[in-house]
Amino acid sequence: MTKVLYHNDIQDESLRAKKIAIIGYGSQGHAHALNLKESGYDVVVGLRKGRSWDKAVEDGVNVETVAEATAQADVIMVLLPDEHQPKIYEESIKPNLEPGNALAFAHGFNIHFNQVVPPDNVDVFLVAPKGPGHLVRRTFQDGAGVPSLFGIYQDFTGQAEQTALAYAKGIGAGRAGILQTSFQEETETDLFGEQAVLCGGLTSLVKAGFETLTEAGYQPEVAYFECMHELKLIVDLMYEGGLENMRYSISDTAQWGDFVSGPRVVNEDTKARMKEVLNDIQTGAFAKGWILENQANRPQFNAINVKENNHSIEKVGRELRELMPFVQQPLNSKKKEVVT
Ligand code: NDP
Ligand code: MG
Ligand code: MG
Repeated sequence: MTKVLYHNDIQDESLRAKKIAIIGYGSQGHAHALNLKESGYDVVVGLRKGRSWDKAVEDGVNVETVAEATAQADVIMVLLPDEHQPKIYEESIKPNLEPGNALAFAHGFNIHFNQVVPPDNVDVFLVAPKGPGHLVRRTFQDGAGVPSLFGIYQDFTGQAEQTALAYAKGIGAGRAGILQTSFQEETETDLFGEQAVLCGGLTSLVKAGFETLTEAGYQPEVAYFECMHELKLIVDLMYEGGLENMRYSISDTAQWGDFVSGPRVVNEDTKARMKEVLNDIQTGAFAKGWILENQANRPQFNAINVKENNHSIEKVGRELRELMPFVQQPLNSKKKEVVT
């Protein structure tokens, strides 16, 4: 099995002498900045004036413009939305990089697909927590951490790995486990996971199940409970102990249905489609489409978003959740706090 590194395996003296700029203060940014600060590091946050700026000031962290924070720091972690990174990198980060600096990311997309092309004389590494920012922060406060991947794209100083590991330790990842990857592997597996399974695969499965039941004349409310609401209970069991643990908790009838019907729904054809999705990721076809969609101001993204929000499972779901205050959450607190 791949080697997993923990807190005590990692030397962090060299990073202690350095200044770390966290560019962005959203889901990941606030967690990295506060965790590193509380781990004793010298942290500056780079932002534009606005909501995040005010929040960072409120949280007592040192805030500067992106250009100024980059200029001051030795390690620059880019935690901006992936779509905006190339422009902000060109305008404010690149002109302020110095030889021997380290440029860091929490997702490999822009480096792997050449949207950010760093100079040869800096280190480039990845520390990617496998969980949302609020969890990176909350687990740290509880004395734990979120498992993270690290990877090296460019090692100019000969210290890139040491810096990356010390950084990962500083955000608390060493308490949960740190695994080595590459920018390519992190990017391609992250995109595949969210497209084929976690987000795309799951939403399509849920909708198809709901539509099958309602088109057969069953009540949408009942279909909602069976195909959406109960998912959380099942996923929690899988998270805690794998498929076996989940199957141990469900009835034998459910387990038999799982065995005989699951493979009829998700079968070799589905896997062939998954391989096409993976191929589009590997060839850069998906990345190209998403980059162009952003350059065109997201016409398709916005149109599909409206259509999806009006799906009948969403309408009935909103009404039912009104009746279940224990599952309710304001939309903005859910934003970005899921899988990316
Ligand atoms: P968010 O959207 O939550 O936060 C983005 C931050 O960037 C905000 O503070 C925003 O500030 C700031 N920002 C946006 N535009 C600018 C600008 N022009 N100048 C200065 N600051 C700007 O991002 P995430 O934390 O979700 O993502 C950051 C990175 O982490 C991405 O690479 C993502 O792939 C990766 N990642 C995210 C995970 C997650 O769970 N969210 C998990 C693992 C990796 P403002 O308030 O001013 O808009
Ligand atoms: Mg049932
Ligand atoms: Mg992602």
